[in-house]
Amino acid sequence: MRNERRIGGIGVSPGVAIGRAFLLGVDELKAPPVRILPHKVEDEIKGFRRALSQAKRELARLRDDSPGEVEGIFGAHLMMLEDPVFLREIEEEVREKRLSVAHIFGERIEEVISHFGGLEDEHFRGRVADIRDVGTRVMAHLLGTEREVLAHLQEEVIVVAHDLSPSDTVQMRKERVIGFVTELGGRTSHTAIMARSLEIPAVVGASRISGEVNPGDMLVVDGQTGRVILRPSPTTLKEYRQVKARLKRFEKTLSRLRDLPAVTPDGRRVELSANIEAPEEAEEIRRKGGYGTGLFRTEYLFMRATLPGEDEQFEVYSQVVRSCGDCPVIIRTVDLGGDKFVSHFRVPKEVNPFLGWRGIRLCLQNRGFFKIQLRAILRASALGRVGIMFPMVSGVGEVREAKGIIEETKEELRGQGIEFDEGIQVGIMVEVPSAAILADLLAPEVNFFSIGTNDLTQYCLAVDRVNPNVSYLYEPLHPAVLKLINQVVEAGHRHGIWVGLCGELGADPAAAVALLGMGLDELSVSPVAIPQIKLVIRGTAYSLAQRVAKEVLAITTPQEIREYLEGLLKNNFPQLNI
Ligand code: PEP
Ligand code: MG
Repeated sequence: MRNERRIGGIGVSPGVAIGRAFLLGVDELKAPPVRILPHKVEDEIKGFRRALSQAKRELARLRDDSPGEVEGIFGAHLMMLEDPVFLREIEEEVREKRLSVAHIFGERIEEVISHFGGLEDEHFRGRVADIRDVGTRVMAHLLGTEREVLAHLQEEVIVVAHDLSPSDTVQMRKERVIGFVTELGGRTSHTAIMARSLEIPAVVGASRISGEVNPGDMLVVDGQTGRVILRPSPTTLKEYRQVKARLKRFEKTLSRLRDLPAVTPDGRRVELSANIEAPEEAEEIRRKGGYGTGLFRTEYLFMRATLPGEDEQFEVYSQVVRSCGDCPVIIRTVDLGGDKFVSHFRVPKEVNPFLGWRGIRLCLQNRGFFKIQLRAILRASALGRVGIMFPMVSGVGEVREAKGIIEETKEELRGQGIEFDEGIQVGIMVEVPSAAILADLLAPEVNFFSIGTNDLTQYCLAVDRVNPNVSYLYEPLHPAVLKLINQVVEAGHRHGIWVGLCGELGADPAAAVALLGMGLDELSVSPVAIPQIKLVIRGTAYSLAQRVAKEVLAITTPQEIREYLEGLLKNNFPQLNI
């Protein structure tokens, strides 16, 4: 057995997972052996044929577009994919062994490669690269569907992947995927956010993991520190089992705060609500002691083969409203684009998707689509305290246009005699620096602001939130970001509207003290973070928090700010230091 190995990454979802590695497309030709249920075998074969046709179409296009001397190479590649004996053998093996076709195809290609690679003849040895090329092309199509296995895993695993898209993550079932590690990603990538909402310990940005891990290897994932331990020794395993037990005990202690309000000892009350990505999560908010939904990210409803219609959306929103009872539910209109794309919108590949066709921009240019969502939200508003929130707003014009569409939609509903809340609150995410700078002009247009520090940080500091190469620069506790937050709170209050914050910064207990002191009225965090933040709020006098905020706003560097706030937290809440 190989020795224990430690790899560092970015801890993005707290907790410790101990289990076996499940490799998802780490090596292009190595796919894990996934069992196929007997009645699914023929679908698996169909998927194989589909992948072959797609690969063949691509190769034919490449051949036709290539100059003469290269044309022959793709022609040869095509021939390989038309070898009936080879293909029949693969299909038979899938039927016989009932294992995923990606696994069997990958193994067969590896066999052919090692056979040709071992031959004396130079010409045959030269074919190896061609075979690998064809193999990976087909695998890419197979793995596209192989990712669906995340939803059908038969045993507990820790997923290891080069990258996971939010739509991969949304398929993960908590009972099966007990942790994950990726080579790409940052703390506020939507994959990381999804991990927190599923309460799956996760590490991203573990850049060297694929070269070190084998399928089935034992792994420890420490989602707090970002440490991943491959093939842990018995002593390490024992140590981490103890950490897990300590975490569990601490969780139990925190659960005593569940029914208590988020109020400081000197009486300042904050609405501590939750960010959710799926309607089922709304049930969890109360269990964790939260007050309603501060941000319902609706994108995940749209990340599938067909777009959801008005009735289906209405059902989903109603489910959340029912779960939250008398508490508010803020539904964000769809924020597709950036790292959350869907194929329904034929968006040409963008060089800078985070600066492109995203959020409200996409909705304003697809009015019919936008109206369906607004109708569904408005209908759900008849059942409780619903708010509508627009993402990615960069100026007043967009807000006015979007509000105009709400008015049109209301008029249609009135005409049809369909009920909705006439006084429904409308607010915006403040996450683009121009919106933060123009907060004084935007406040009179809306009922509330919710500061999105995930994007505000990326856009203010020009640091891609999903790129591990620059993650060392991604610091929401940067003085520039904190000054913008403070300015937005002041502007909102000057105009008599409430100001919340729904970025991940709110879930950082060290930052929470300063945010409290800046006068935020609401903090919306992943359900899993609610108990810790409530502990901090209940244990910090508002007068102290205000002094802390003032001091923080006078500090020059992000490092000093973090040191100062973490020092304070350590002193005042030693129990958080597990
Ligand atoms: C944010 O940007 O801070 C935010 C809450 O929205 P999202 O993470 O979905 O972009
Ligand atoms: Mg955002």
